[in-house]
Amino acid sequence: MTSNQAKILLVEDEQQIRRYLRVTLGTNGYKLIEAERGEEGLAIAGTEKPDLVILDLGLPDMDGLDFAKRLREWTSTPILVLSARGQEEDKISALDAGADDYLTKPFGTGELLARIRVALRHADRGSNDSTDSSFSFGNISVDLAKRIITKAGEEVHLTPIEYKLFVILVKHAGKVITQRQLLREVWGQGYSEENHYLRVYMGQIRHKLEDDPARPKYIITEPGVGYRLRPDHTEG
Ligand code: CA
Repeated sequence: MTSNQAKILLVEDEQQIRRYLRVTLGTNGYKLIEAERGEEGLAIAGTEKPDLVILDLGLPDMDGLDFAKRLREWTSTPILVLSARGQEEDKISALDAGADDYLTKPFGTGELLARIRVALRHADRGSNDSTDSSFSFGNISVDLAKRIITKAGEEVHLTPIEYKLFVILVKHAGKVITQRQLLREVWGQGYSEENHYLRVYMGQIRHKLEDDPARPKYIITEPGVGYRLRPDHTEG
């Protein structure tokens, strides 16, 4: 794809910046979609699959860092942060949260367009990445953009830790994820031996999602190794 047809999602509540970008990006041939709030932006990202997200860090309903982390739960679409926060530590935390680049307000048009071209070039290179934000297996469906899980049409509420664990399994559906990897991703480096945490939390997730938690069909234990989401279970 050439960058001139690229679809850019702007998540920003400041009217002035929105107006400026609408004109600037429009003139340069980009297709712009706008969201004022984080939740709205995530939902749009899930359905529209933009080629690039331009993200303000100070959103009315959530911190931009949380937006970046949530977007990264299902897609590697590049994120260019626009922020008035110009400290080095602000940039580091944005990059650590999953942003690819950072531009401090106020910025020049030339630089903005150059950064957009770079981000889109990188995105093209890794373009075989899946960006589907929804997924279903058996009677369970998962919408990562809206963070909604349903079982037989009924919404299931997972705690934040249960959700993180479940998302890791969903992202690697069909593959075994080691205990160590799960513990590190969810609890951090210092917890890589705490296998009993996983037994407790996986038990809770099974209670919420499996028809028979004692004989799980989807969330499978690989003894001594880890866990695996088996999305393609068939009876018999
Ligand atoms: Ca703002």
